Amino acid sequence: MQQVVVKASERESTRARADEPAGSRGREEAACLLCKEALEKSAGELFDTRFGIEGTYEVWRCLDCSLEQIFPVPTPAELGRLYESYYNFGGEQGTSYTRLREWFFSSWLYRMWIFLDGDISFHGRKGAGRLLDAGCNEGRGLKIYACNGFQVEGLELNPTAAAVAREAGFTVHLGDTTDFTASAAYDVVVLSNVLEHAPDPKKVLLNVRGNLKPGGQLWISCPNSRSWLRKVFGRSWINWHVPFHISHFSAQSLRRLLIDAGFRNVETRQLTPTLWVTQSSIAWLFARQGRKNRQLRNPFLTLFLMVLARFVLFPALWLGNRSGRGDCLLVVATKA
Ligand SMILES: [Zn+2]
Repeated sequence: MQQVVVKASERESTRARADEPAGSRGREEAACLLCKEALEKSAGELFDTRFGIEGTYEVWRCLDCSLEQIFPVPTPAELGRLYESYYNFGGEQGTSYTRLREWFFSSWLYRMWIFLDGDISFHGRKGAGRLLDAGCNEGRGLKIYACNGFQVEGLELNPTAAAVAREAGFTVHLGDTTDFTASAAYDVVVLSNVLEHAPDPKKVLLNVRGNLKPGGQLWISCPNSRSWLRKVFGRSWINWHVPFHISHFSAQSLRRLLIDAGFRNVETRQLTPTLWVTQSSIAWLFARQGRKNRQLRNPFLTLFLMVLARFVLFPALWLGNRSGRGDCLLVVATKA
C-alpha cells in the first residue's frame, strides 16, 4: 500500500488547487472524490484494527462539500488485492461463531433486539414489490426482506458469497454496483453498509437511480462521520475501517450527494448499534497494528459487551442519536 505522510507544516503545499490542470495532479495531491475541490487532513495515523494489515492511513476532508475520504484512495488494483486477501467472504460456515450468528438472525430474539437496539439494515420494514439488496453478501438480508413481503433479488461482487445465497434459492446477480442493469426496475434498492466502500459513490447512486421505478425508494445505512464515538475511541473507532472505507459521510454530505444524483424527499435518522460500540471497544482494548484482532470474532465477549453497552450506556446512545451524533446514518430517498 502506497503511503503518503503529510506533516501539518507541509499541508498547505500539498493541498490540491481546483484550478490546476487535472494532468498536473499526482497521487500526493488531494482532490475531493465528489466535487474535485481541495482537501485537508482530518485524521492521521489510522491503522487496520481487524485483519492486521500493515501500514497507516489518513482521512482528509473536502473544504467545500465536507465529504471525508481516505487519502490517497487505493487504486482499483490495490483494492482488488486487499479484498481478495483480507475481506473475501470465503464461505465460512459451521464455526461456532457462524452457527450462533445464523441462529440469532433467524430467531425471535433478533426481532426483539432490533426493536430495542435499532435496525441498521432495514430488517424490520414490511412491504411489497421488487427489492434489490445491492451488496447482499451471502444472503442473510435477502431471507429477512423476503419474510417481510418483498420479491427479493441480490447483487453481489463476490462469487463465493453469491453462490451461498443462490444455494438458498435466491436470484443473485453477479456484478458491481456501478454498472448493473436490471431486466426490470425495482421498487426498493437497499445499500446497507455498502456505499462507504465504493471508490465512486456518485456513480453507484446514479446506477441505482437508473434501476429504480419512478417514485422508487433507496434505503441507505452507513457510518456517520460526525459520530460522538469517533471522538471517544479516536483511532480505534471501528468505522474508520481503513483501507476499505473510502468515503466517510455526514448527514449533510450524503444529502447533498443524493440530491445531486437525482433523489428527493431525503429522510435521515440516526442510530447507535451496540454491536458497533462493542467492536470499537474491542478494537480499543485489543487492536495492535499489523496483528489480526481475533477478539472481534469472540461471540461471548461480543455478546457480553453488547448487553453491557445496551443497558448501561443507553442514555448516552439516545442523546447521541438525538443530537445528530449517532454512529449510523439511516437514509430513505425517493427517485425524483
Ligand atoms: Zn467535495
